[in-house]
Amino acid sequence: MIKKDVIIIGAGASGMMCAISSGKRGRSVLVLDHASNIGKKIRISGGGSCNFTNINTNHANYLSNNPHFCKSALSRFAPRDLIALLEKHGVEYEEREQGQLFCARSSEEIIRVLENESKDAGVNIILDCKILEVKKEEKDGRFIVSTDHGIFESGSLVIATGGMSYPQIGASCLGYSIAEKFGLKVTELKPALVPFIFSPVDKKIFSELSGISIDAAIKCNDVKFQGSLLFTHKGLSGPAILQVSSYWKEGNAIIIDLLPEIDICNILLKKRQSKSKVDMHNLLSEYLPTRFAKIWLSRNFVSKPVNQYNEKELHSIAHQIHNWKVIPRSTEDYRTAEVTLGGIDTDELSSKTMESKKVKGLYFTGEVIDVTGQLGGYNLHWAWASGFVAGQYA
Ligand SMILES: Cc1cc2nc3c(=O)[nH]c(=O)nc-3n(C[C@H](O)[C@H](O)[C@H](O)COP(=O)(O)OP(=O)(O)OC[C@H]3O[C@@H](n4cnc5c(N)ncnc54)[C@H](O)[C@@H]3O)c2cc1C
Repeated sequence: MIKKDVIIIGAGASGMMCAISSGKRGRSVLVLDHASNIGKKIRISGGGSCNFTNINTNHANYLSNNPHFCKSALSRFAPRDLIALLEKHGVEYEEREQGQLFCARSSEEIIRVLENESKDAGVNIILDCKILEVKKEEKDGRFIVSTDHGIFESGSLVIATGGMSYPQIGASCLGYSIAEKFGLKVTELKPALVPFIFSPVDKKIFSELSGISIDAAIKCNDVKFQGSLLFTHKGLSGPAILQVSSYWKEGNAIIIDLLPEIDICNILLKKRQSKSKVDMHNLLSEYLPTRFAKIWLSRNFVSKPVNQYNEKELHSIAHQIHNWKVIPRSTEDYRTAEVTLGGIDTDELSSKTMESKKVKGLYFTGEVIDVTGQLGGYNLHWAWASGFVAGQYA
């Protein structure tokens, strides 16, 4: 049996950061992962450029039953700490909208940093490793991890297995089942940062708009996000939709302002005043994609020359444009979700160390915890920060 100070299950962002942080303290660290490479989600994140952090990272960017839980870790491993690490390795990056930092070349560079840093910290990694059983010895409180590569023992065990999204690249529910095995509560889990599926009626009408995008402001349950909305053949996607999806519950409506920067009512009334004979769908096509304007208008209104509408009708069209109500049938599932909402109940963990309050030596890091970031680099930042702090104690 191979003995280590720390065993980490999961060689993703948080597991690798935890391994580096712990290894640098002189601890002997073993990372186990069933995937054939480390950091598979890092590789595909941000479309291959990895939105690795956000310079505005703040606890308000996270959803959790306890919105304060993430504060301590975020303050002890801030975006500037990650940037310093990447700069040390010559990783070039660029700031895109709203403080989002992306690799200027490729997400592969971040994976190289993790490989080199973990090597320097003396971390051992076993890939393609199937976890068969995890238990804690009653006599000495040490953890025993049985795998198809042998049996390993450690004083600290870190669960960094991530969420359930993208099972096609190795995501699994192992972290949640380990938590439950040790008697820790797991909150309700659901896909988040995920596209919506239309109701059957809307699907019939709007599926032919697949590929069209509109800059919109979308509201749901007291939150509002502005950005791109994309029609898919099944429903709606795009950054603003993904953001809203994390706050959406079955049966909720989403309210879409199709022209958030324009007072369309004023424009319509002025056109009427000037006795314009332009057809409504042609007029709306000046502000919205033509195909969309035609189909959207035909759903609720008759298209006719603007001078033939009365003022009430114009007010009603304008109101609908700024408050288009859509009730999605559902979201897509974990195959297309960027993250899992919910996770290990934060009441079970120390916010300073990520250690279980009930089970000494058992730690959880990253997405497996009930801390879910908004779109924009926040999820990876939580993975780095929680992994770093756990590594300071594990
Ligand atoms: C398509 C996509 C794009 C994304 N883009 C971004 C982005 O640009 N910015 C951002 O901030 N976030 C992004 N995210 C979210 C982000 O990637 C995750 O939140 C983050 O990687 C979580 O880190 P983690 O270490 O907790 O888990 P992961 O990085 O998922 O790592 C978990 C590790 O555990 C291993 N594992 C799982 N189950 C087992 C098992 N049974 N046995 C052994 N090993 C196991 C996995 O193989 C994996 O290596 C994206 C996610 C997806 C799916």
